[in-house]
Amino acid sequence: AASPFAAVDMAPRDPILGITEAFNADKNPNKVNLGVGVYYDDNGKVPLLECVKKSEAQLMEKATPRTYLPIEGLAAYDKAVQELVFGADSAIVQEKRAVTAQALGGTGALKLGADFLKRFAPESQVWISDPSWENHRALFESAGFKVNNYPYYDPATRGVNFAGMLSALKEMPKGSIVVLHACCHNPTGADLTDDQWTDVIKVVSERGLIPFLDMAYQGFGDGIDEDGKVVRRFAETGGAMFVSNSFSKSFSLYGERVGALSIVATSAEEAARVLSQLKRVIRTNYSNPPTHGGQVVATALSTPELRKVWEDELAGMRVRIREMRKALVSKLKEKAPSHDFDFVIKQRGMFSYSGLTKEQVGRLRDEFSIYAVDTGRICVAALNSRNIDAVVDAIAKVL
Ligand code: PLP
Repeated sequence: AASPFAAVDMAPRDPILGITEAFNADKNPNKVNLGVGVYYDDNGKVPLLECVKKSEAQLMEKATPRTYLPIEGLAAYDKAVQELVFGADSAIVQEKRAVTAQALGGTGALKLGADFLKRFAPESQVWISDPSWENHRALFESAGFKVNNYPYYDPATRGVNFAGMLSALKEMPKGSIVVLHACCHNPTGADLTDDQWTDVIKVVSERGLIPFLDMAYQGFGDGIDEDGKVVRRFAETGGAMFVSNSFSKSFSLYGERVGALSIVATSAEEAARVLSQLKRVIRTNYSNPPTHGGQVVATALSTPELRKVWEDELAGMRVRIREMRKALVSKLKEKAPSHDFDFVIKQRGMFSYSGLTKEQVGRLRDEFSIYAVDTGRICVAALNSRNIDAVVDAIAKVL
């Protein structure tokens, strides 16, 4: 009999995972992978944070049975996330206008939000930045939306094409869903200024657009509160909004899949109805989230000593990335004085759109075993005191 899979085509390879496969196969002992989206410490290792080890030790001690969590996840986790994202004393939290559901990483949070929106704003279209995290488009398309780009990156200034972005926002139909990176824009590293956010918030709320803030790197830009400021400023408008956040990077808990979706409604009564429907989305997808990661993060966020350990460790990651940015720029100044890389210092988060062309990225790979994304995106968090000189020498040679 004919196989039901006879007509299944091979899907295109994930471009970023493809880089890692090529990197793994490379025999050069000095190879460097700058294509990843992961924070490495100065030894080139993914850290297991002290706050995580300590939370896990406490949890082991308690040895609780693994019952099902509620559909929307661990209550202590959802509460801690809400306070982290909006501020414990914010009007939104006090007035119970936000609902938060534990999700399978930031990706899972985005997908829950997309599925929820498809049920209640089925005619809306989605707008993402050009460029954006490569999964945004596919994810909203898979929920059934038409996905458009708004102008964002300007290669000439290596910053944001703010005039283009704002005029696109001003033309979107009411009810359009606008995905915004709350901080540390992936892939460019170029963020809006406070004044630019003021304009964006004004246009979004005046035009009745639905903001969907994606915050996957809180704490990697300027600090936990500083990076969360945009969410709080949007919240002050009193309008509806969606926030997806992730602890993959900030707790170095990639594989535990810990994130959350928060939906802000315009009243507590509306929020209760929203939560009841969000629970249906979850129930029909995976029923309820896993226990371990949420418990680790909830314990760390809500135990004052562990919270302090986490904040210090996160600051350590943030500072190390910034030092790598500075070192990259000053070393390139020596080796390639006719090229200006000062923009790298202004960029925020784990990534830099380095300005390297596809050809230059190809030469870095073929001649030096240094792997980056074809767009020129490099992960600054994969640089360290031992590989940076080799990377700088190679870049200087391909420029
Ligand atoms: N959103 C952005 C902008 C990201 O860069 C990422 C991860 O790379 C995610 C969401 C997904 O986060 P997670 O790995 O927690 O699913």
